[in-house]
Amino acid sequence: TATVKTAKDGVLTMATNATFPPYESYEGNDIVGIDADIAKAIADKLGLKLEIQDMEFNSIITAVQSGKADLGLAGMTVTDERKQSVDFTDSYATGIQSVIVKEGSSIKSIDDLKGKKIGVQLATTGDIYAKDDFGEENVEEYNKGADAVMALTSGKIDAVIIDNQPAKAFVKTTDGLQILDTDYVQEDYAAAIQKGNTDLLNAVNGALKELKEDGTIQKILDKYIK
Ligand code: GLN
Repeated sequence: TATVKTAKDGVLTMATNATFPPYESYEGNDIVGIDADIAKAIADKLGLKLEIQDMEFNSIITAVQSGKADLGLAGMTVTDERKQSVDFTDSYATGIQSVIVKEGSSIKSIDDLKGKKIGVQLATTGDIYAKDDFGEENVEEYNKGADAVMALTSGKIDAVIIDNQPAKAFVKTTDGLQILDTDYVQEDYAAAIQKGNTDLLNAVNGALKELKEDGTIQKILDKYIK
């Protein structure tokens, strides 16, 4: 296969924020998860080595825009606003914005969030929706989803809005929390690629298509989503 030009010769550089299980999180010194496995499979298809750069979620788009990273892969939702800064590959997974509250909370529906203090991860779609729907003054932004969950546990905030899979992972490892039985917003996840880099976009989409068709993507999702 023809080699595609990347930021670093022979390497596919992935920018992520490894605080988002089961998509990306640390296991010892390694970043593991759905996105790490998918990026590895794409890199293999393209005959490249994979390197993962961990950064703030907020910095991923800039890293891709500037060409420092080839791929932003971070459970990232495709949005029109982000499309002004980067191109997105075909979608490889879906997400749902979920609401985490304390067990026994009086918050039982999306409507009940009105006037409550809502924690989110900075610059995520959950952050954007929460501010739009419930007012900026009611939204507390944290660098990590896990920090928002800690603030919920300690009673500083009343709810956390975050993607459903990390929500499940956080609730599983924290006592006294529950996920509301309501799906706030449905989303598509895709990889971000430098705007106009059609060679790389086509190469990654080609790899993704093969990995979907041969069942690899489904296998990776099933490995992490129980
Ligand atoms: N899917 C959400 C977004 O794209 C959250 C992603 C994340 O926190 N890694 O904004």
